[in-house]
Amino acid sequence: MAGLQDRTRFEPSEVEPRIVAAWLASGLHHPDPEGTPQENFSIAIPPPNVTGALHMGHALNGAIQDTLVRWHRMLGMRTKWILGTDHAGIATQRQVEKRLIAEGGATRQELGREAFVERVWAWREEHGGQIIEQFKRLGATLDYDDERFTLDDAYVRAVLKVFVDLYDKGLIYRDHYMVNWDPGSRSAISDLEVENREVEDILYSVDYPLEGSDRVLTVATVRPETMLADTAVAVNPEDERHAELVGRFCVLPLVGRRLPIIADDHVDPSFGTGALKITPGHDVNDFEIGRRHGLEEISVIGEDGRMNENAGEYAGMTVPEAQAAVVDALREGGRLRGEEPYVHSVPFSHRSGERIEPLISLQWFCRMDELARPAIEVVQRDEVHITPEQWKRVYLDWMGEIRPWCISRQLWWGHRIPAWHCAACSAITVARETPAACGTCSSDQITQETDVLDTWFSSGLLPFTVFGWPENTADLAAFYPTQLLVTGFDILFFWVARMVMLGCHFMLDVPMPDGSKRTLKDAVPFREVYIHALVRDADRKKMSKTKGNVLDPIEVIGEYGTDATRFTLAAMAAPGTDIAFNSDRTQGYRAFANKIWNAARFMFMNVDKAQQAGIWSLDDFRKSLKDGKPGATITGCQTLTLEDRWIFSRFNGVAGQVHQALAEFRFHEAANCIYDFFWGEFCDWYIELVKPRVALGDTSAGTVRTASQNLVALFEASLRLLHPFMPFITEEIWQAVYDGKPPLKSIALVVFPEADPAQADTAAETSMAILQDLIVSIRTLRADLKVEPKEKVPVQVYANGEIRTLVDQNRSAVERLAGAEKVTFVEASLAKLPGARSTARFEVRVVYEKKIDVEAERKRLTKELEAAEKELANIERQLGNLEFLSKAPAHIVEKMRLRAQELIVLIEKIRGGLNGLG
Ligand SMILES: [Zn+2]
Repeated sequence: MAGLQDRTRFEPSEVEPRIVAAWLASGLHHPDPEGTPQENFSIAIPPPNVTGALHMGHALNGAIQDTLVRWHRMLGMRTKWILGTDHAGIATQRQVEKRLIAEGGATRQELGREAFVERVWAWREEHGGQIIEQFKRLGATLDYDDERFTLDDAYVRAVLKVFVDLYDKGLIYRDHYMVNWDPGSRSAISDLEVENREVEDILYSVDYPLEGSDRVLTVATVRPETMLADTAVAVNPEDERHAELVGRFCVLPLVGRRLPIIADDHVDPSFGTGALKITPGHDVNDFEIGRRHGLEEISVIGEDGRMNENAGEYAGMTVPEAQAAVVDALREGGRLRGEEPYVHSVPFSHRSGERIEPLISLQWFCRMDELARPAIEVVQRDEVHITPEQWKRVYLDWMGEIRPWCISRQLWWGHRIPAWHCAACSAITVARETPAACGTCSSDQITQETDVLDTWFSSGLLPFTVFGWPENTADLAAFYPTQLLVTGFDILFFWVARMVMLGCHFMLDVPMPDGSKRTLKDAVPFREVYIHALVRDADRKKMSKTKGNVLDPIEVIGEYGTDATRFTLAAMAAPGTDIAFNSDRTQGYRAFANKIWNAARFMFMNVDKAQQAGIWSLDDFRKSLKDGKPGATITGCQTLTLEDRWIFSRFNGVAGQVHQALAEFRFHEAANCIYDFFWGEFCDWYIELVKPRVALGDTSAGTVRTASQNLVALFEASLRLLHPFMPFITEEIWQAVYDGKPPLKSIALVVFPEADPAQADTAAETSMAILQDLIVSIRTLRADLKVEPKEKVPVQVYANGEIRTLVDQNRSAVERLAGAEKVTFVEASLAKLPGARSTARFEVRVVYEKKIDVEAERKRLTKELEAAEKELANIERQLGNLEFLSKAPAHIVEKMRLRAQELIVLIEKIRGGLNGLG
C-alpha cells in the first residue's frame, strides 16, 4: 500500500531529519577512491571557519554545490564533495580572547601561549561542529566521513613541507618591510584585509627651514606626529619652483635632523606647495620612495600604538597625544603655517575595525612572481576556466601586479613558523622537525619563531592536502584535479588565486596515476571556477549586523523548509547578479512543495483504488522498468493519448533545458524551467486531464492501467529532475512510489532524466496549445460575464477543418476543464456576437443570459486589438530588418511569418467584433 495520501501537508520538520539520517547511513556521500578524475566529480567546499555559523552566503554556496554534486552523482559519476574546516587564525583567537574577558579570568598573556592554545582547542571541540550540523540540515551531501581541519596532524605536516620547500628554493624570506599593522589584533594583516574609509582629518602646513638660508619650505601633513621620523623632503623633478633646491637640505623642526631635498616622480606638484615630507617608517608610499633613494628608515611608533624611544620627549605617548603635543610645540615655535579640514581615504582593519598603522616590521614573505607565472598561464589558456568571464580579467589584472605576500602573523592560534633563531650566531634554521641545534654553529641556544602563518597559507593548499599529499595517494589519483570550485568573489585573491599558484607549483612534481610526468594542465587544483554573487536583503541592501537586516538561513529553513529555501536561492542565482532574498518567494516555493505533495496524494489515492480492484499496482510499474531500475528516459505505454504525447514531449524538452542550464551554471533558468513544468504543465494541466482515465467507475480497466502507468512513470521521472533542487520532498515521494521496495537506496543514486528526441512531438504540443487556449478563453469569458464558478454554461465554437476535429475529439476534456455545459459547433462567425472571443484559429462564445456590458466589452476588445496591432508591428519591423533576417535561424523567421499571418486574421476579427457592438 502506498502511503502518504493521508498526510495532508508536506511537513519538512518531520521529514528532513529522517531523510538526512538515511542519506548518511547509505554512505552515498563517501565514495571509494576509484576511477580517474575525468570519470569522477570532486569539489572542495570553501572551508568554513570553525567559529562560524551558517549565514546566507554559505547557504547559497552550499545549495549551488549540492545541486551540482547531486546532478553529477545522478549522471553516474563518482562524486566526492570535500569537507574542510578552517582554523581561521585571527577570528578564532579573538573569539576565545573575548570569552576569557567575559569570564573575568586570566588574559591570553597571563595564560601563556601553551595554555591559551589548549583553550582554543577546547573551544573548537565545543563549537566547531555547529556549522557542519547546519550543512547537514541544508541537505548538503558533503563527505562527512572524511572531514579535514587545517590544524589536523596530516595537514600540519603538509604545511610544514610547503614552507620548508619554498624557503629552500629562496621563495620564502625574511625582510624589514612596510606592513599594515593592526593595533587592534596586534598583528600585520594583508592588503586584502584592509578597507578604505573616507575620514575627515586636519591638514597641517608646517614650515621646514632651508639650511643656510632664511627661506622655508612648507609641507602639508595630516599626521604631524610622524614628522619625528622624517628623513627627507621630496619635490617633483618637473617642478620648476623647486628645481634649484634639489640637493640642498632642510632642518627638521623640533628634532634638528638634516633632511636632504630629493626629486621623485611620485610627488604631486599640485598638492600643497609641491614639497612632500618623506617618512619611510610610517607611510607606504614614502617607504617606496625611501627604498628608491636609500633613505634611512626610522620608526617612532611601536607595535602597541604608542610612541617609542626614537620619539624622544614624546616617547610613551599614544599617537593622538603625541599629535596634540607636536602641534602645540610647532605652534609655539612659529612653525605652524595653517590648519584646514581635510577629507581623505584612510585604511582600517577589516578584522578589528581599528585604523591601520603602517609600520616597518621584520616579517616573513613569500615571493610571488615565480609562483604567479604558471597560475597566469593556466587561466589565460582556460585550463582553469572562470565563470562569469569578467572575473577572469580581474584575476589576470591582479596576478599581473602581484606583490610579495606577507605570510607571518603575530598570533598564537595557527601553524607556528618552523624556523629557529640562534642566540649564539643569529642564524635561522628552518626544518620540518624541531632541530636539536643551530644548523650553522651547532649551538643548542635556539628558540622557535613566535609568529604563525597567515591562515590563507594553509587553506591555499587545500585541494591537494585534503587528498593526503605529499603522499601520492589513491585519493589524489582518483580526485585531483577537482572539477570545480564554487565561491564568492570576495576571496578570489585570498584563496582562489593562491590555490592555483600553490597547486600548479607543488602538484607538478607528483606523477600521474599511470606514472607519466604531470603537466601544468593536470597540476591545476580545479578545472573550473564559478563565482557566485552576494545574498542581499529584499531591498537589495547588504546584510549586516549593524543594520539588523541579517537573515539566518536556519530560521528561514525552520519556517519554510529546506527545499523551499534552497529553491529560492537556486531560482534567483543568475550568474553575475546579486540575490535580493525575499521570504515571500520562499513562501511561494513552500506552496510549490505542497502542490507537488497534493499531486502525489491524488496519484496514490487512485493507485490504491486500482490495486484494491486488482487492476494495476505499483508492482506493475516496477516490472515495467528495464532491469528493475528507472532509465534516463521515460518508459510509457504503447498507446498514448494526446495529453500523454504532449506531456512526454514537454518533459523531454524540459529535461534537455535543465541539463543545458546546469552545465552553464544558469541555476535560475534550470529552477524556473522545472517549476513551470511541474506546477503549470504537470499539476495544473496533465493531472486534470488524466483524472477521468485513472479513476475507477465508467472507465475501462485497460484505460486505468495505461493511464496509471503513464502518470506514475512521468511523476517518478519529474521527481528525479527536481531532486537536485528539492532533495527532501522528492526523496520522500520517490520512496513511496516504490512502496518501500526502491531499486536503489535513494533517489540521489538514480539516473538523471535526459532529453529523448524520440518523444519530442511537435504536433501534440501544437494541438494541446490550441485546446489550452480554448479552455483559458472560455474561463476568461466566464469571468468577464461573472458566471458563478459552479454554474455550467453552453459554449459555442466556430472553427474549421483540423481545429474543429481536434476540439470535437477532446470535447469532454474541454467541457470539464472549462465548466461548459455542452460545446456545440456553429457554422457562422461568432466574432460580432456578445460574449465571444476570437483567435486566429477559433472563435468561441459563452452563451449567458446576463446582459452584456457594452462599454466594458468595447474596452476589452479595444485592448485586445491594440495588443495584437502592437505585436504585428513589432514582427513586421523585425521582418523588415535585413540584419536580423541574415542572423536569425530560419525556423524562427518562419515562425514569425506564420504569427504575422495569424495576427492579420485576428485583427480583422476583433474589428468585426467592435463593429458588432454598434
Ligand atoms: Zn648558531
